Amino acid sequence: MQHPLIRGTVGRNVVVVGTQWGDEGKGKIVDWLTDHAQGVVRFQGGHNAGHTLVIGGRKTALQLIPSGVMRDGVACYIGNGVVVDPTHLLTEIARIEALGIDVRSRLHISEACPMILPMHAAVDRAREARRESSSGGKIGTTGKGIGPAYEDKVARRAIRLQDLKHPDRLKAKLTELLERHNAELSLLGAQPLALPELYDGAMATADIVVPMLADVGWRLFNAHRTGDNLLFEGAQGTLLDIDHGTYPFVTSSNCVAGNAAAGAGIGPGLLHYVLGITKAYTTRVGSGPFPTELTMDEPGSVGHHLSTVGQERGTVTGRARRCGWLDAAALRRAMVINGVSGQCITKLDVLDGLPEIRIAVGYRLDGRMLDVLPMDADDIARSEPVFETLPGWTDTTAGLTNWEQLPANARRYLERMEDLTQVPIDMVSTGPDRVHTILLRHPYRA
Ligand code: IMP
Repeated sequence: MQHPLIRGTVGRNVVVVGTQWGDEGKGKIVDWLTDHAQGVVRFQGGHNAGHTLVIGGRKTALQLIPSGVMRDGVACYIGNGVVVDPTHLLTEIARIEALGIDVRSRLHISEACPMILPMHAAVDRAREARRESSSGGKIGTTGKGIGPAYEDKVARRAIRLQDLKHPDRLKAKLTELLERHNAELSLLGAQPLALPELYDGAMATADIVVPMLADVGWRLFNAHRTGDNLLFEGAQGTLLDIDHGTYPFVTSSNCVAGNAAAGAGIGPGLLHYVLGITKAYTTRVGSGPFPTELTMDEPGSVGHHLSTVGQERGTVTGRARRCGWLDAAALRRAMVINGVSGQCITKLDVLDGLPEIRIAVGYRLDGRMLDVLPMDADDIARSEPVFETLPGWTDTTAGLTNWEQLPANARRYLERMEDLTQVPIDMVSTGPDRVHTILLRHPYRA
């Protein structure tokens, strides 16, 4: 239903989310779609994300700045749901501006964003070090301070970017907050941090950050009603969502499509199409259950093939990603939670040359058959995947741009994915470059 304040020509808005544990290749697709968008919006997460784009053979990795920045004239927005490390932000801006791309005049950041400060990263790392020696084990966070920053937000004590406009207020809030975090650091046997460095470090970013601060939700609403198409760029993936993921082995934000509204400051009626990005197999970084996981050490094994051919290494941390077969039962949950309108399958070419390909269609747990991922991480860990085997293909799919060019068994695999998830495949990505894309139905014209 049209918002009562909106009349006449309006834009069309697309949300892009990962349907697995992140690293599905969202950055490339967001960049590809920005051909049809005038604004790209981040709505959750922070610089724990790593979005890799390859344009004309040149690789760029973005963490906090929306992937639309690589297209001239596209406005970039960071919504209130994102946690922002201002020092990291300036480093990332400088890195992109060094490529001759203007960032600052096109980047609008919500002044309500909670700040990530050095104490958050210190607490994040000290907790992980402590967990490593405990029975529960590490979560395997990125160590960027994401969790501690979101904790301060929900506890209503976060320092927000808007505080950079009020140095005295910033200092008072920081003094109180640092006391709390230093107490925890001492408890964990880590070095406490000093107020002057933290305060000066934050204030040193103010001259550049403050001019970019904006009322992002209101701006998006007005951009939409004057005809701009918007693209909401999810980070991480559905199975890392704080509520719907494999808790506690998750990130600290809602990564699902519904949060595009709350995390950007617009109404859910303005989200018109949800594109779910699904990797043709599964990967995960960090700890937590992963029913279809394969061992990767043995040369010649499928796990080793996926890891090496797929270059499965984290963009942010450089850690090797765990690899496994596609899990259709986990995908079913992701399709439903996100209300996915259409899927884009990525990295299909990584499966080229495998003699056969497996898909988990359900699980066996305590003598029962399940057709969707259980809610409890311990149950997931105990679930035994039930596989279906499909024939592989020998011809390469790398770089193909047309559905008819795909080997018959590759088409069969994709059609089976569609059957099992009950969501149409609208796009297939066959390589890292913008042009390596098969389009079946365009999200902006669907
Ligand atoms: P955090 O977000 O740094 O707190 O990490 C929590 C979990 O989310 C860890 O398992 C991380 O490896 C994972 N994670 C966070 N960001 C990403 C991402 O962008 N891609 C994949 N995994 C991520």
